[in-house]
Amino acid sequence: MDIDIIIKNFKKNNIKVTVLEDSHELLCFLKNNMPAHSVVGVGDSVTLETTGVYDFLRRETYTFLDKYDKRLTKEEKRNIYLKNFDADFFLSSVNAISANGCLFNIDGNGSRVAPMLYGPRKVYLIAGTNKVVDDEQSALERMRTIAAPLDNIRCAKNNPCVKAGHCVDCKSKTKICNYFTKIQGQFDENRIELILLKGEYGY
Ligand code: SF4
Repeated sequence: MDIDIIIKNFKKNNIKVTVLEDSHELLCFLKNNMPAHSVVGVGDSVTLETTGVYDFLRRETYTFLDKYDKRLTKEEKRNIYLKNFDADFFLSSVNAISANGCLFNIDGNGSRVAPMLYGPRKVYLIAGTNKVVDDEQSALERMRTIAAPLDNIRCAKNNPCVKAGHCVDCKSKTKICNYFTKIQGQFDENRIELILLKGEYGY
């Protein structure tokens, strides 16, 4: 898929795309674009974990709203989710990117997708080119056959897709697919920015 065409299509939807070569470029980019002492929140992301973004946020001088701190009580974690809305930066990934310039996500409790849509002053959505698909139909398919089942396994949820290997559109109370979101534009062109990493990252 031609990256230049994808960038143009996102531009039509008022969303900037920055293409980076690898995780090293990604960390340099974040360091150059997020001033020291900024307040930074994150959403769950295998991509952010494997590219070293979480560790980078911990070792730099940011006020990192670290939802992974094992000492957090349930209420403290909820407070972190609420603080994300007022953060300077919110970093996460997406589940699928359509070549016509839209971003797709599924979420269980909404704490990951909600700050993408409103609140944080700047949102960097970081994803590998492996998540680019042709259109909306393929994006939904990608989420149901790849992202959601693998995320169920990561979260140790015993939902039907773990055995089946694909989504069976279950009604399980523990399903992680409660919220489907599609970002197809924004008022402020400087808010959500897609960082496209060349290669395969996350799912
Ligand atoms: S809806 Fe149910 S079966 Fe489908 S991916 Fe979500 S948890 Fe799995």
